[in-house]
Amino acid sequence: MLPTETQAPLLTSVLTCPVCQHAQAEQMPIDACQWFYECTSCHTVLKPLAGDCCVYCSYGSVPCPPIQAQGFGSCCG
Ligand SMILES: [Zn+2]
Repeated sequence: MLPTETQAPLLTSVLTCPVCQHAQAEQMPIDACQWFYECTSCHTVLKPLAGDCCVYCSYGSVPCPPIQAQGFGSCCG
């Protein structure tokens, strides 16, 4: 990570499991969506909520990089 790079999207998002409320920081892929994420605590496989493109947009503290770049919408069309 470059501390002076203000244009770079945040690549770490804290996913909060809706089942057990476990929060886990994860690295996001820069140019891809992640549709599935297995909770490291209860092993529930999370999927995006309706209207969201990836698990980071639904459960993360930071939306995925394509959303950060666009500021809106969906990262996968
Ligand atoms: Zn969980």
